[in-house]
Amino acid sequence: MPGIYIHIPFCRQACHYCNFHFSVSQKRRPEFVKALLKEIVIQKDFLYPDTNNRVPLDTLYFGGGTPSLLETAELEKIFNALHKHFSFSPNAEITLEANPDDLIPEKLESLRELSVNRLSIGIQSFYEDDLRYMNRSHNSRQAIDVLNYAQAAGFVNITADLIYGTPGMSDKQWKQNIMQLVKSGIPHISAYSLTVEKKTALEVFIRKGKAAPVDDDQSARQFEILCKIASQYGYEHYEVSNFGKKGYFSKHNLSYWSGEPYLGLGPSAHSFTPGVRQWNLANTCKYIDSLKLGKISAQKEVLTHEQQYNEYVMTSLRTMWGVDENLVKLRFGDKYYKGMIRSAQKYIDNGKLVLSDGRLKVSQKGMFFADGIAADLFA
Ligand code: SF4
Repeated sequence: MPGIYIHIPFCRQACHYCNFHFSVSQKRRPEFVKALLKEIVIQKDFLYPDTNNRVPLDTLYFGGGTPSLLETAELEKIFNALHKHFSFSPNAEITLEANPDDLIPEKLESLRELSVNRLSIGIQSFYEDDLRYMNRSHNSRQAIDVLNYAQAAGFVNITADLIYGTPGMSDKQWKQNIMQLVKSGIPHISAYSLTVEKKTALEVFIRKGKAAPVDDDQSARQFEILCKIASQYGYEHYEVSNFGKKGYFSKHNLSYWSGEPYLGLGPSAHSFTPGVRQWNLANTCKYIDSLKLGKISAQKEVLTHEQQYNEYVMTSLRTMWGVDENLVKLRFGDKYYKGMIRSAQKYIDNGKLVLSDGRLKVSQKGMFFADGIAADLFA
């Protein structure tokens, strides 16, 4: 079922590792909200080439940036516009990404009233040293309190992000980070290995010797620890970075991975309809200025057969369902299928891939390397 993603490009402070599109200046936020309201109207038919068949949307996802920075009145305007121009199914998943320092009890209350029913909280770590290394805007106390506050406000469907592989974080501390989430009873965990992206502060600091470098062996080891604890406590490892209890897998991400159409609103947001990808420029000022003129600054790409195959392999191989052999044969043809199996053979031989019941999947051993393996299977 189709869904909507909304990119809110503002943050309180810049995390050193982050390469997403955001600004720490809030100066143009009121104009941004106005521009977004306009884009909602302009894009209302994007998902509906046949305007007589407007199926209700199943997911709405506020990402960023830091959507929890928006004030209730700003969110209210956005929700009103969305409800005016789209319809949502009664059990639609409505997720909002939030940082611990924003989620005070009053804010949580208003998010519930606005019909947000899933929170994705960027905790990253419960240790001050890690939070400082990453330059997060919250502290350890806020990271601990936020889960209590969210649950007390009635949120059940909660996911929290953690980051592993930060220099100086011992395996023991990493276990404690995971256990803190497990003990809270939240039904979903996302965990990412700290990566040093180009043009980030972290990359510069490491290059200049001002920050400790990231150790791949530590990351691989801590990923293994995570997998073990998650499985021990009933979180299914359904995607490389995602672990969920039954009934709590992210509907929004599942729809991305299964090739459902989605509309992306806001600067840098991507949209997809079968065979076509479209993305707004990652420039908030241009986004605002062009919407003042009633235009969207977007680019569009018609995906080739090869790109569609590569995308399918990349997203499917990251999930526990893997690549469907029959689908590859039927949708992409024998040549693609044979090429894929040929490239997969060395990974099947070394135990990183498993081929069974018509599915090609990464094994537990191969999971940490899923992206690299997928790239090797590309056409
Ligand atoms: S809060 Fe999120 S989007 Fe903002 S700088 Fe930090 S990691 Fe990036």
